[in-house]
This record gives sequence, structure tokens and C-alpha cells, in this order.
Amino acid sequence: MNGIQDKVKLEFVQNVNQHTGTKRKRIITPEQRQRRLEYGKCYRHKNKEILREKNKQYLEDNRDKEKERHKLYSSKNKEKKRQYQYNWRVNNRDKSRRKSRVDYAKHPKRKEYALAWKKKNRDKATEAENRRRAIKLSVICERINPIFIFERDQWICGICGKPVDKNLKRPHPMSKSLDHIVPLSKKGNHTYDNLQLAHLVCNIKMSNKDKKRRNL
Ligand SMILES: [Zn+2]
Repeated sequence: MNGIQDKVKLEFVQNVNQHTGTKRKRIITPEQRQRRLEYGKCYRHKNKEILREKNKQYLEDNRDKEKERHKLYSSKNKEKKRQYQYNWRVNNRDKSRRKSRVDYAKHPKRKEYALAWKKKNRDKATEAENRRRAIKLSVICERINPIFIFERDQWICGICGKPVDKNLKRPHPMSKSLDHIVPLSKKGNHTYDNLQLAHLVCNIKMSNKDKKRRNL
């Protein structure tokens, strides 16, 4: 019985002959595998500098290939990458600030681009501003998709109860806007529960007064 179990544990490894380039499959036992891993670890530790140089040289020689590989990886792992970058920014706040300052100085036209984007994507920009404020006030903050709230409230203003025209855009007074039912300044959260659709003019009129929920 033991013999069979041992066989199940065995695994294939691929050996490559360095001179001829031919590949050969070999069966190794778990102990052999362990020894291989340890040997590799030891080797890498002993030859740290050489390997670093080698790696550097490889990256330099295969810059385009590596770029392609990175691109492929990031397009496949978008969410992972975003999370990683977010974590890095949180853990290295000072470093990240310094870096963005340097980047900003490098590209003087960036401000222009940012303003143009803001003008074009007014809703998204307002959402981002709100989120920033919410984080500063340390209330609970969700990533909001405004359209979801507009559809949920069936395009009816939560303050005056009249319909909102989908096609009007800021700064038109009757255009759509996101309204905090309990205002951020009064420790209301930036969450789906605490947001409703309102006319821009109604929103501004009520500014930081408490409101009752109309919709839902
Ligand atoms: Zn209204």
C-alpha cells in the first residue's frame, strides 16, 4: 500500500539540457523536490549580486518584450493591480505625495487636461469631490455610480417631488445632482442609503439642512 501512495506523491519535472536545449521529463520524489528547492534557495542567496546584474541585463535587453508582458498582465488583473496600487498609496503616503508632485511638475499641461476632463465629466468629478470630502470628514464612504441612484429614484427629485430631465446638464438649475439626505457636514455618510436624486437648484437651496426621504 505504501508503495502506491508514494507513487502518487511523485511528480514530473522538466529538465532542460543546457547544451542541446532538449527537454526531458523526470520523476522525482518529494524529498528530492525539497532538496531541489533548498538548493535553489541557497544558490540564489550565495549569488545575489550576480543574479541581480543578470536580471538587470535581461530587462535592458528585452525591454519591449517585458513591456508587452506587463501590459498583458495588467489588462488581465485590473482589479488586483488597482488594489495593490491603492494599498501602496495608503502605506506610503508621503512617498506617493512626493512622487505625484514631481510628476505634476514634469508635465505642465496636466492641469489643463484635468480641467478639460472635469468639464466633460461633470458628474464623475462631483462624485470624486464628494468622496474626497467624505474621506476627509472620516464618514463611511462608498464608491458610487450616480446612474444607479438616478434610476433607483426613477428620475424624481427627492426634495420637491417633481421629475428631473435626464438630458439637462450642469450648471442648468433643473439638472440632475446627487443630494446627501443627512449632509456630509452633519456626519452623514457617502453611501447609497444616504444619497438621493435632486434638482441642482433644490440641492443648493437645501444645502446643509436635514431632509426627509421622499423616494423609496
Ligand atoms: Zn427638485
